[in-house]
Amino acid sequence: MTLSHDPPRVNSTLTQKKIVYNESLLYLPGTDCPLRSQASLASLTSFRVGGPAEWYVAPQRLEDLQASFEWGHSQGLPLTLLGAGSNLLISDRGLPGLVICTRHLRHTQFDEETGTVTAGAGEPIARLAWQAAERGWEGLEWAVGIPGTVGGAVVMNAGAHKSCTADILVNVQTLSPTGFMEELTPQDLGFQYRTSNLQGGDRLVVEATFQLKPGADPVQVRAATSQHLEQRRRSQPYHLPSCGSVFRNPDTRPAAWLIEQLGLKGYTIGRAQVAERHANFILNCGGAQASDIFQIIRHIQQQVEQHWSVWLEPEVKILGEFQPA
Ligand SMILES: Cc1cc2nc3c(=O)[nH]c(=O)nc-3n(C[C@H](O)[C@H](O)[C@H](O)COP(=O)(O)OP(=O)(O)OC[C@H]3O[C@@H](n4cnc5c(N)ncnc54)[C@H](O)[C@@H]3O)c2cc1C
Repeated sequence: MTLSHDPPRVNSTLTQKKIVYNESLLYLPGTDCPLRSQASLASLTSFRVGGPAEWYVAPQRLEDLQASFEWGHSQGLPLTLLGAGSNLLISDRGLPGLVICTRHLRHTQFDEETGTVTAGAGEPIARLAWQAAERGWEGLEWAVGIPGTVGGAVVMNAGAHKSCTADILVNVQTLSPTGFMEELTPQDLGFQYRTSNLQGGDRLVVEATFQLKPGADPVQVRAATSQHLEQRRRSQPYHLPSCGSVFRNPDTRPAAWLIEQLGLKGYTIGRAQVAERHANFILNCGGAQASDIFQIIRHIQQQVEQHWSVWLEPEVKILGEFQPA
């Protein structure tokens, strides 16, 4: 291992695959991008649970992102892509391999001529909604209560209030693990309810462009945005850590209705609980383990199947090892 007190220059070669140490900090080879081992992931997810990542990196620039992919590949590490972690349940045992987090890939550009906004993958989608509202641009009011990133919104086809990401997406710039940038359009992404064909893959959304409608009165767009937020705060529990809706809604009835009818509101394992305010939310009431949440998910699935003959599919991404209930 090379010992160094200064981070290496960004443009230095990536051919040496050694990790560069700077006292307690490690850097990705050829970059000044910190690389952490056994990095806690709990604070990087909205559930506030989960063990450490074997390796963790949060690049700020495209070249560091490429270097992350290259290093992970050279070490034969499995990859996990992380946005704001607002739709993830990560095992208490943590994740093997390299976790690449996009939260520092942030920039926003509003184009007055085309009425489009282009944002980096790590830009919070709610922040983008407020920025658009401030300008009097319509089209993102629905996104204000979604605590994820632009990249996560594209991959999940996040949506609310009868609108979703697919409705306004123009294109995305993606990076493949082999380092190729590719522009994809909504037609390429196979969008459906809360899903796209980017899910489960290792292609990273670097930035996305959305078509909005400029020219409205900012006061009115701000009011509509606030109204959406208020409505959500009234009907959903925002006061404790969660992942939002745990299950996809089946065709028949909303998942929350199916769960509530079985008297499962308030059902508790350890420090995790089915929310009283919204039965499709599971809350971390303080000190919950990922395994508590996982067991509640399994219990709900079994109960709902037994009573309604419906198997609820999780919307939350369950990552890492869990003991079957
Ligand atoms: C209180 C609360 C309310 C919520 N309300 C809603 C709602 O109304 N509607 C809704 O749709 N969702 C909602 N969610 C869920 C969540 O916010 C969305 O699914 C969001 O889009 C996830 O974005 P993220 O950045 O947190 O992604 P993460 O949770 O970090 O990741 C989700 C998936 O996307 C992948 N991913 C993330 N970023 C990238 C990237 N740049 N490139 C490639 N893959 C990537 C991850 O690998 C993972 O598979 C809510 C969550 C909470 C906690």
